[in-house]
Amino acid sequence: MSQTATDDAPSIPSSGDGAGPGTDFIRAIIIADNATNKYGGRVHTRFPPEPNGYLHLGHAKSICLNFGVATEFHGKCNLRFDDTNPTKEEVEYVDSIREDVRWLGGDWEDREFYASDYFERLYEFAERLIVLGKAYVDDLTADQIREHRGTLTEPGRESPYRERGVEENLDLFRRMRAGEFPDGARVLRAKIDMAAPNLVMRDPTLYRIRHASHHRTGDAWCIYPMYDYTHCLSDSIEGITHSLCTLEFANNRELYDWVLETLGVYRPEQTEFARLNVTYTVLSKRKLIQLVDGGHVSGWDDPRMPTLCGLRRRGVPPQALKEFCSRVGIAKVNSTVEYAMLEFCIREALNETAPRLMGVVDPVKVVIENYPEDRTETFDMPLHPEDPAFGSRKVSFSRELYIEREDFSLAPPPKYHRLAPGREVRLRYAYMITCRDVVKDAQGQVTELRCTYDPATRGGRTPDGRKVKGTIHWVDARSGVPATIRLYGQLFAVPDPENAPEGETFLANLNPDSLTVRKGFVEPALAAVGCGKTVQFERVGYFCKDRDSTEDNPVFNRTVTLRDTWARIVRNAEGQGA
Ligand code: ATP
Ligand code: MG
Repeated sequence: MSQTATDDAPSIPSSGDGAGPGTDFIRAIIIADNATNKYGGRVHTRFPPEPNGYLHLGHAKSICLNFGVATEFHGKCNLRFDDTNPTKEEVEYVDSIREDVRWLGGDWEDREFYASDYFERLYEFAERLIVLGKAYVDDLTADQIREHRGTLTEPGRESPYRERGVEENLDLFRRMRAGEFPDGARVLRAKIDMAAPNLVMRDPTLYRIRHASHHRTGDAWCIYPMYDYTHCLSDSIEGITHSLCTLEFANNRELYDWVLETLGVYRPEQTEFARLNVTYTVLSKRKLIQLVDGGHVSGWDDPRMPTLCGLRRRGVPPQALKEFCSRVGIAKVNSTVEYAMLEFCIREALNETAPRLMGVVDPVKVVIENYPEDRTETFDMPLHPEDPAFGSRKVSFSRELYIEREDFSLAPPPKYHRLAPGREVRLRYAYMITCRDVVKDAQGQVTELRCTYDPATRGGRTPDGRKVKGTIHWVDARSGVPATIRLYGQLFAVPDPENAPEGETFLANLNPDSLTVRKGFVEPALAAVGCGKTVQFERVGYFCKDRDSTEDNPVFNRTVTLRDTWARIVRNAEGQGA
C-alpha cells in the first residue's frame, strides 16, 4: 500500500505500488504531449457524471484516472455535472456524487461546473452553426429521422428540410427556444453527411424540444442540447486538455472533433479507455435503478450494491478502491475483473487499519462449571496483534460465555482442532477449557456446553508445556452485548448477471441468499465503536457498524470474510498450488 487509509479522504495516489506515471497508454500520451508542448505542458482533465443516479465502481475507475493523472502531472481535474436531460436528473444525485468523489479523495477545488451553466453559450454556438450553414431545423419526427438514418451497410437519406435557408433556420430555432412548438415537433440537426460510414455523423441531432423543468435552470429553457454537442463544447470552454472517456464513445470522437473544428474553437483530445466490469455485479445506473425501484435492495446504499455509497456503508475504505483501480489498470480492450480481486484489496487495506475485537456471530453458550458464579476478571487484550500502536482494551470473563457454534463439533472430523466432547481448547487470551458435557434440546440441537477451565492457564499459556492446538474467540455472557449481524453474499448468483435465461432480465440472476441476518453477541468495546467504523471480528471477518444501530442493538455489516480466495487464485495461476 502506498498510503494508509484514514477517516479523512486521502488524495488520489499515483498508479500504484512502484508504478510511476507513464505506465499505461493514457499516461504515455500525456507524457508525449508534454514533450511536444502540445498544451504548453498543461494537464487538465474532468470527471463528467450525469446526475441521474449514484456513482458505482465503474465511476471509481474514471475518478481515479482523471484525478490521478491530474495529481501526477501537477495538473487540474474538474468536476462537471453533465446535466442536459431535465427529466432524469435530480439534486439528490448531485449531492451524492459530490460526497462520493470527495470520499475517494478527488479534489476539484473551486472547479465545480455544470453543463447547464453553459446553456446560453451553447445556444449561441448553435446559432453560429446555423449561420455557417452547418445546422438546420428538421420537422421530421423522431421515428422518421430513425428511418432516414440508414444502416451500417446502407447510406441514410436526406431530410426534405435539409436545404432550408439560414434565415428560416434561425427563425425556427429562435421560435423553438421561445416555446412555440410542442415536444418532438422539431429538432436542430448538424448538417454533415447522410452517407457517412460512421452513423454518428449522419446529421446528428443537436437540440430537442423538451418542455420540462431543469434542476438548475428551472423553466428558463424548453430546448435542451444533446450529449454529444454539449460534452465537447463544455470540455472546450473549460480548457480541458485530455478528455478521457469509455470505449463506447469511440465513434462519437469524430463528431466531438467536427463540432469544435467547425466552430473554430479550442479542441481537447478525446481518448477512450476500457470500461470496468466486475463479476457477480452490474455496473450501469439504469440497472442499479431497477434494483432500487424494484425493492430488490434496501436502497442505493444497500451494502450489497456496487455503488460507492453502498461500498462505504459496507465498510470498504477508499484506499481499497484506489488500490483496486490501480491493479485493474487502464486498457484499450474491455474485460471483466474478478470480484475476488476487489475483496483481496479490501482485506489488504483493512488488515492494516482495522482493530481486532471479539464478536460471536452464531452463538452457543458455554458454562464453566468450576468457575465461581460471582467472579468476573478482566484481561488486557491487544487491539492489533502485530501493531502495538493500536493499544489494548479490557475484556471481562465470567462463568458463562458464548462461542461460535461452528467452533464445536459433536463428531470432530480429522484435523479439527477446536472444541469437542472431552477435548481442550484455548479461549483467546484467557484460559484453556475442556468440554465435559453437551446439553441438547428436543430436536437434538446443541444448546449449551458444560466445560471446566484450568486456572493455571491464565492468559492462554500452558505451564506444563502441553499442546493445545485450537484457539477460539468468545464473548462473556454477563457483559456481552446482543448484536444484529448482517452477512452478505454476492448480489447475483452467477458471474455474468447480464447473461439471463431467455425471456428474462438480469433480475432473474439475483442471488436469493445474498443477505443472512444473525443475532450474535459482541464484547462491550466492539458494541461501542462508532458508526461507519470497520473492525475485525477476530477469526470471523471484517465488519462495519451500521447507522441502523441503536443503543441496545448494535448492527454490523460484514464487509468481507477473512478467506482469501483471490490469493489462492493468484497462487494457482502461478502454478504453486493452494
Ligand atoms: P452508466 O452506464 O452507469 O449510466 P455512464 O457512463 O452513463 O454510466 P456517466 O455518469 O455518464 O455514467 O459517467 C461519468 C464518467 O464515468 C464517464 O466518463 C464514464 O465514461 C465513466 N464511467 C461510467 N461507467 C464506467 C465504467 N464501468 N468504467 C469506467 N468508467 C466508467
Ligand atoms: Mg450516461
